[in-house]
Amino acid sequence: MPSVFIKTYGCQMNERDSEAVAAQLVAKGWSLAPSEKAADVVLLNTCSVRDFAEQKAIGKMQNIAADVRKNRPGVVLGFMGCMAQSRGQELIDKLPDVDLVLGTQKFHRAADYLDEIISGAREKIVDVAEEQGSEATIRDHLLNGSAKTSVSAFVSIMQGCNQYCTFCIVPYTRGEERSRTIPDIVAECRELVSRGVKEITLLGQIVTSYGKRSGVAAGILPAVESGFQPGGQALNSSKHLKVSQVVPGGKMPPSTAGGTPAATSPFVQLLDAVHEIEGLERIRFTSPHPKGYGDDLIDAYARLPKLVESAHLPVQSGSDRVLKLMHRGYTREQFVGIIKKLRRARPDIGITTDIIVGFPGETDEDFEETLSLAREVEFDNAYIFKYSQRRDTPAATMPDQVPQKIREERNKRLLETVNEIAARKYKQFVGRQVQILVEGPSRKNPARMTGRTSCNKIVLFDGSDRHRGQLMDLKITRAGSFTLYGDPAIVNL
Ligand code: SAM
Repeated sequence: MPSVFIKTYGCQMNERDSEAVAAQLVAKGWSLAPSEKAADVVLLNTCSVRDFAEQKAIGKMQNIAADVRKNRPGVVLGFMGCMAQSRGQELIDKLPDVDLVLGTQKFHRAADYLDEIISGAREKIVDVAEEQGSEATIRDHLLNGSAKTSVSAFVSIMQGCNQYCTFCIVPYTRGEERSRTIPDIVAECRELVSRGVKEITLLGQIVTSYGKRSGVAAGILPAVESGFQPGGQALNSSKHLKVSQVVPGGKMPPSTAGGTPAATSPFVQLLDAVHEIEGLERIRFTSPHPKGYGDDLIDAYARLPKLVESAHLPVQSGSDRVLKLMHRGYTREQFVGIIKKLRRARPDIGITTDIIVGFPGETDEDFEETLSLAREVEFDNAYIFKYSQRRDTPAATMPDQVPQKIREERNKRLLETVNEIAARKYKQFVGRQVQILVEGPSRKNPARMTGRTSCNKIVLFDGSDRHRGQLMDLKITRAGSFTLYGDPAIVNL
């Protein structure tokens, strides 16, 4: 049987899609090649969020294709994922050595298409069509691919995004929001936990919109508008069914209001259902939208102990003017209001964000607002992106595109501010006792073990493989940049 090497660019959703494709091929008897040089099939799972990611994948494929043409004709080459979706046939026109272009709703067809190409039944295949129900096909895991049990696993709960932020290509590459059912997701999580998984990360392009769109499948309530309005109140509509009638397991979630249970969004219903799985220690999710942090989700943070003390809220800008141009649907004040509520619910919560600098029309004053937001919120970490023009997005043709040099300067200044704050916050951990979930040996130094706190800080310590999968208390002895060092021997029991 052939061997495959999949190289993944971009987000955790892409990592998960690659894993599902690899698992699909392994189930058919394929093997996983250790590198592209040793593989019969090389697939690049691409990202389109920024031009840089696209150029990297195209450059990589050019190099692989040149090598294959010269030394190993017969190797099958393919693009999959977001760039495959947005560029389609154009990729084969540009790189004629490529045999397969597989769109974001077609991952489950990978094995069949590769068989057809390898057997000679078809020479080239481009499939970027929409496919109903494809959101439920990202199911296979590779846990048994390694001899060790994976402590942490990703579960795809939905695909697509309907938010249409003016800078973002995701709605065009991932399509409309489509959600899997709660029973289907819970079954996958249970199966993972039965195989030793302790932490599950629920994945989607906009997880807080889970189950809100038409075509909502069995097991989920009709869409409940959950978000905030200018007064900062959750927009939980009472016209919908009571949660207790439908949440699998039939438990009535308590309410912050005391008495009447708050109507909960489908996403919070899903959190409730996953939370009931025995043996599961931690629940994470990504990527949410700040608009999705209604009172029901804040409430979930207060009452679900398995929901980690960590939240990622991509703010994108600190300026209301820019937020409006981006079509984000919240103001700076509303964003800060959510952070305050989250910190009230979980005082030690780690807050991370995404920020774009140099969005079209962003003035020096707008950028100063972003700097001041970073100082006000004191993010534990921020992923900072220089704005990148994406085809077919409204922002690409907006006036006043910011010169590259200014984007770079702002990127540098914001990074310095964020890093300074983060370093201070990391230092505050020294001397504190924390609990980590041990994931395995550190990649950089396999003599050390690595784990993460509930607030998502990486902790390294001198341990051994018997610690893998354990929740362990240790004392933090030192803080590096975005890493803590701990000692399990000096905890106060
Ligand atoms: N739906 C996800 C979200 O909103 O969080 C998108 C995930 S995307 C991989 C992560 C981040 O990329 C976004 O939050 C945004 O900060 C950044 N991004 C998206 N489009 C961009 C663009 N055109 N230029 C620069 N950064 C961009």
